[in-house]
Amino acid sequence: LVLAQKVEKQFGTLKVLKGIDLAIPKGEVLCIIGPSGSGKSTFLRCINQLERIDGGALWVSGERVGYHREGNKLYELDDAAIARQRRSIGMVFQRFNLFPHLTALQNIIEGPVQVLGESAREATARALALLERVGLADKRDAYPSQLSGGQQQRIAIARSLAMRPELLLFDEPTSALDPELVSEVLKVMRDLAETGMTMICVTHELGFARDVGHRVAFMDQGQIVELGDPRSVLVDPKETRTKAFINAVR
Ligand code: ATP
Ligand code: MG
Repeated sequence: LVLAQKVEKQFGTLKVLKGIDLAIPKGEVLCIIGPSGSGKSTFLRCINQLERIDGGALWVSGERVGYHREGNKLYELDDAAIARQRRSIGMVFQRFNLFPHLTALQNIIEGPVQVLGESAREATARALALLERVGLADKRDAYPSQLSGGQQQRIAIARSLAMRPELLLFDEPTSALDPELVSEVLKVMRDLAETGMTMICVTHELGFARDVGHRVAFMDQGQIVELGDPRSVLVDPKETRTKAFINAVR
């Protein structure tokens, strides 16, 4: 579903992604771990076309993504094509960024109605089912300020799902949460993984990565240093840098 070949990205003179090669099949849950500044968020943002890549190639759902260079030639998609591609990708951020002036239910139906053109009735019916699924049916009329961080994040996940994404990107969805709220969000993500959703999760939750991830990638300094099944990467890492990171986090 996602194919990255030698993906490079730099900000000014700072090389942030130094040739990322990765193939993520449909239905896979890939967890990405790594130190701060290693390029994890940047990689997700490239997949979602919030950043343009400077080298290599990136495909999502069989389509070449966004801006790319071939030789000296720069190809750019038009805004409509980018918008269409981005529609199939959901992203959940560390900060929940729900619309503060909309209720939980309104937050969820906004995209389906405005962007997908669903009727309010159809969108509401699906939103209620999604609220049920994230365990917040009773909060349909609550505003974000009336919800805990964990609840807001579950609404944010429901809102992403309402867009019927083919791929969900999570960028440290639990790191801004109080410790006691982490597990309710991880549970929603775990349930989602079981439905066969393709997910790329940047996370510091090594337990989640081990239990739910199909594969784990360790990123450092703009490169994927180690990639494999959770056990081999998290329990018995081959690379010194992976070992050092895991020992430091644990
Ligand atoms: P963290 O775990 O702290 O979230 P990360 O692995 O997600 O880190 P990125 O956010 O991808 O790291 O950042 C990688 C590097 O790119 C960092 O050195 C960061 O300062 C730099 N960087 C990110 N975005 C920009 C930007 N828009 N302009 C300039 N530099 C940037
Ligand atoms: Mg980040």
